[in-house]
Amino acid sequence: FWKNLEETYQSILSVPSFDAWIKTTHPLKLENNQLWLEVPSAVHKDYWEKNLAAKIVETGFKLTGSEVMPHFVIAGETEERAVLKDNVAMESETPERFTEHSKKAMLNPKYSFDTFVIGKGNQMAHAAALVVAEDPGSIYNPLFFYGGVGLGKTHLMHAIGHQMLLNQPDAKVKYVSSETFTNEFINSIQTKTSEQFRKEYRNVDLLLVDDIQFLAEKEATLEEFFHTFNDLYNENKQIVLTSDRPPNDIPKLPERLVSRFAWGLSVDITPPDLETRIAILRKKADAERLEIPDDTLSYIAGQIDSNIRELEGALVRVQAYATINGEDISTSLAADALKSLKSTGNKNHLSILQIQEEVAKYYHIQLKDLKGKKRVKSIVVPRQISMYLSREMTDNSLPKIGAEFGGKDHTTVIHAHEKIQQLLEKDPTMQKEVNEIKNLLNS
Ligand code: ADP
Ligand code: MG
Repeated sequence: FWKNLEETYQSILSVPSFDAWIKTTHPLKLENNQLWLEVPSAVHKDYWEKNLAAKIVETGFKLTGSEVMPHFVIAGETEERAVLKDNVAMESETPERFTEHSKKAMLNPKYSFDTFVIGKGNQMAHAAALVVAEDPGSIYNPLFFYGGVGLGKTHLMHAIGHQMLLNQPDAKVKYVSSETFTNEFINSIQTKTSEQFRKEYRNVDLLLVDDIQFLAEKEATLEEFFHTFNDLYNENKQIVLTSDRPPNDIPKLPERLVSRFAWGLSVDITPPDLETRIAILRKKADAERLEIPDDTLSYIAGQIDSNIRELEGALVRVQAYATINGEDISTSLAADALKSLKSTGNKNHLSILQIQEEVAKYYHIQLKDLKGKKRVKSIVVPRQISMYLSREMTDNSLPKIGAEFGGKDHTTVIHAHEKIQQLLEKDPTMQKEVNEIKNLLNS
């Protein structure tokens, strides 16, 4: 039954829509004409109920002669959200159609929905972006993306702009970094052109402001931004914002802005799992028409585990290395190309003790417990993380690492390393924590 439905949706939806809504949905069971489907997030559930569910009833009737009722279960949680407005399915569009308008709006033509790979860490953000692009100003306003560097926030934001311009070529779309916003504002005061500045920002249908954590502390600019926000919001114009952290964690962001941001939807983007990283590399490689074996892509994806920009950088590096050496891209060539990347890191400078101290501090535990034998989870996990990082970030041998942890066997280190590696592939909290510790160690 689900197969049949999938085919129906495939024929009526564009590829990006199909990927966003149908591919991410899994049938749970069909019982007494009740069809249970699992969807990844509340945004997906809303969209299904409003736009896609009717087809289930229709197809169900055709196939079984009776009415099939769909039910949606959100994977892992049960959060309910506001009801979506009526919405039309997306038309498929080719990148060539990115017009003059997109250029004027300062949008990067490469950052479209077509080039965006959906994975666990970003599927809710992607779904919310699609909804907003199709029906701006009415459902999730403002839409707020947050997450670490290089995870696709700017990309998604531009994709919303492109899509909106494809649907409504005359729409006014404006993308700015927070820095540009600040500079233009200060400039407008100095040159006495505040009126023009206001017009420019308050006469748009979609305002995209990137990295708003950089606005915090700039009082006059924040004040101006506040009024811009209010004007647009009251006119039902769509606002999309990004930051490296959620609104209430941005230091010195005035409460009145924090609370306004909460009127819409905040979605975080977490680092991609291995599967998604491979899919991203595959897409980039295909776009550049590079011949790369699957195992080599997996290898590269395994080397760089947090930041998609770095992942792209690694691919460029491997490509350049192959060209310079006149060789085809293979796993051993990729290993050579990326070796120097690793050793320019802190690999040789960092000691096991530094890692232990940083981890102990991060988890608020005693260094002697970290190195000791206590078996409580609150200590075992940080201990395993320290071992994992000691292996990843230093050149010390396994027995040496074991010795530094109160004389443990090298198999314990291997076990710890594997354990953390597995967790990193599926647990966003673990990814976030390990990344934060890595960043602390690298700074
Ligand atoms: P952020 O704004 O979160 O720091 P960006 O949007 O600038 O990150 O993304 C960094 C790079 O990674 C960009 O080149 C972007 O195209 C690419 N990228 C990020 N996420 C994805 C994705 N899901 N699929 C394909 N490319 C992606
Ligand atoms: Mg960005």
